[in-house]
Amino acid sequence: MNRFDAIIIGTGQAGPALADRLARAGMQVAVIERGKFGGTCVNNGCTPTKTMVASAYAARLAQRAAEYGVQVTGPVKVDMAGVKARKDALVERSTEGLERWLRSLANVAVYTGHARFIDPHTVRVGTDTLAAPRLFVNVGGRPFVPSMPGVDQIPYLTNESLMDVDFLPEHLIVVGGSYVGLEFAQMYRRFGSRVTVVEMASGLVSREDPDVSEAIRQILETEGVEIRLDAKCIAFERTPEGVRTRVDCQDGAPELSGTHVLLAVGRVPNTDDLGIKEAGIEVDARGYIKVDETLKTSAENIYALGDCNGQGAFTHTAYNDYEIVADNLLSGANRKVSDRIPIYGLFIDPPLGRLGLTETEARRAGRKILIARMPMTEVARAREKGETQGFMKILVDADSKRILGASILGVGGDEAVHSLVDAMYGELPYTVVVHGVRIHPTVSELIPTALNELVPAT
Ligand SMILES: Cc1cc2nc3c(=O)[nH]c(=O)nc-3n(C[C@H](O)[C@H](O)[C@H](O)COP(=O)(O)OP(=O)(O)OC[C@H]3O[C@@H](n4cnc5c(N)ncnc54)[C@H](O)[C@@H]3O)c2cc1C
Repeated sequence: MNRFDAIIIGTGQAGPALADRLARAGMQVAVIERGKFGGTCVNNGCTPTKTMVASAYAARLAQRAAEYGVQVTGPVKVDMAGVKARKDALVERSTEGLERWLRSLANVAVYTGHARFIDPHTVRVGTDTLAAPRLFVNVGGRPFVPSMPGVDQIPYLTNESLMDVDFLPEHLIVVGGSYVGLEFAQMYRRFGSRVTVVEMASGLVSREDPDVSEAIRQILETEGVEIRLDAKCIAFERTPEGVRTRVDCQDGAPELSGTHVLLAVGRVPNTDDLGIKEAGIEVDARGYIKVDETLKTSAENIYALGDCNGQGAFTHTAYNDYEIVADNLLSGANRKVSDRIPIYGLFIDPPLGRLGLTETEARRAGRKILIARMPMTEVARAREKGETQGFMKILVDADSKRILGASILGVGGDEAVHSLVDAMYGELPYTVVVHGVRIHPTVSELIPTALNELVPAT
């Protein structure tokens, strides 16, 4: 039996930082990882996809070069092996750097292998048994494979297996028109594939407002991504050429033939093989670990951080989980997960930066709202860059004058949305934002201008 002060399972976005902080506080810490260090974000999520989005952006810009007065002689060709090599180099540097760093930390012992609880204080990893008074679960999730008819008959791809692809699929069918699916759909279209997105709902990224969803659809369709909505009965069949997909949409052919299928229909937490029963940890119907406001599980001595607790699905929320847990345990803070304001990006090009409530959510909550809207065609920087698709929308509470949320779909939208974050955390009236002077020419400089044109929601 190896005894520690703390055991951390998983080296995603919360575990490594927590290990460092606990170890610096003098605790003996064990960190366990069964896969590649860094988890989803580093190995098959944020890092590789954004690296590939950058390659796709370069391809797009090269295709549009003449619009900027730049000559590209001959057709623009994408070298998929080169795209993958660039991505692999970045991922490798991150994952290897993280492992090296963790192994170098004083007071930290690194174990590789699958961890499983034996009881609330004890974990087995291979032939090792580790025990500690406190345990932290940061096991993340994996792609959900739906039980659609025929799915077991086809060689489908997921965001994980796609990382090994170094060729151009002739016709990629992306099942799932949400955050993960759309990033891949646009990038592969830009690389040169024919791409069809098949979505069960009546709109893309259905968590977003209908106007945002519609603008995203237009952006993708302008580039030739084919979109099939209302696909209620998705089924697959293997054919000599690839895969036939039944879509059964309201309009369009009932079947599609493609060469490859990417499943992007959500994720499941890695809690089914963790020994949660033995640990005394409760999970919800979908397997997410139930936690309180401080991320403590139903087992008094065990915390759950990151995607596996269902409180967030992003790298920054997982990292914030670490901050909450560490500050409460080590610095006597009283931080809660409900203090967090939702913020995230959809990294198609142009990106969507999202903050706080959507308009739909604000209306549903019965808020009296004022709305500021501005098309990106009115943003000088967007015009100068030749990237004028999208719009910004900011919501203000009519009574308190505080900012409720924002959707900035457009060039730099993922960055510009941050210029409202502090006003929201500081609970400032929107007039503070209006009076602040901003840099010209930027996307952010138009936020005060937009806020000067607030109108009541009808
Ligand atoms: C395609 C894609 C793109 C994304 N892009 C973004 C983005 O741009 N921005 C963003 O904020 N988020 C993005 N995300 C989400 C982001 O990757 C996750 O929210 C984040 O990685 C969650 O981190 P985590 O710490 O909860 O878990 P993970 O990163 O999943 O790490 C969990 C770790 O635990 C290990 N593990 C699991 N079970 C065990 C066990 N029993 N024993 C030992 N080890 C175990 C796993 O091997 C893994 O290394 C993306 C996700 C996907 C799929």
